[in-house]
Amino acid sequence: MKGAPRPTTLAIVLRKYDFSETSQTAKLYTREWGRLSVLAKGSKRGGADLRGPLDVLDLGEAEVVKRRDSDLHLLSKWLPSTGFPRLRHRLDRLAAALFVVEVLREGTRDEDPAPLLFDAAVEVLQMLESAGQGGVVAARAWFALRYLDQSGIGPELDACVRCGREAPPEVPARLAIHRGGLVCRQCLALRAEQTMWLTRGHRVVLRALRELRPLEFGCLAEDPGLLQDLMKLLRALLELAFERELQSLRTIDEVD
Ligand SMILES: [Zn+2]
Repeated sequence: MKGAPRPTTLAIVLRKYDFSETSQTAKLYTREWGRLSVLAKGSKRGGADLRGPLDVLDLGEAEVVKRRDSDLHLLSKWLPSTGFPRLRHRLDRLAAALFVVEVLREGTRDEDPAPLLFDAAVEVLQMLESAGQGGVVAARAWFALRYLDQSGIGPELDACVRCGREAPPEVPARLAIHRGGLVCRQCLALRAEQTMWLTRGHRVVLRALRELRPLEFGCLAEDPGLLQDLMKLLRALLELAFERELQSLRTIDEVD
């Protein structure tokens, strides 16, 4: 008798290695189970169930047999739907996509699912496929902020993190990186700390990044200068959380 079908999930390939002549191991970011390492037996030969070989940035449907005694699970089915081929048409698109991959790979834990973060990654990769220069800059900042927000470490932008005083959205303000949010003038007068100055324009764009979907970036992409400034801030917050530099952002420095 045939057993019940195994559950499947959408997944993005974050890393792949050759394991043998015909097999690969890979790190996946799955929608339902979070990050997972898998062994894909025979994936380089390909077959009806395992349509390999797996490549970084492939999106597909995965069936995984979990192993209790090992962190390396068995990929029993892999049906890729896209590898986002147009990302490879422009270096800046590809570099931004590899930033998304690095954040998922290094900034999440095994079997700690975050479906909204997964959806954000897919959405931004789809948008990047047709993005121009301004759109690429917006996409990076959008995903960085999404990751920080989804991880519960997004910057506080509406009130002072020290005294709780509200910060009207149209007013320039100072943001203290190490505190993860705005700090009011009164609190800074009591105790100085390193801050970044946010103009009214910065604050409007930050708010828009929180509210917009990637396909609505048109208006933001016209002013990449503000987004570049904000990316410095988001990068500092990411590097504080990761406790190191992100390799993909160093690559982006060279591409830009
Ligand atoms: Zn304050």
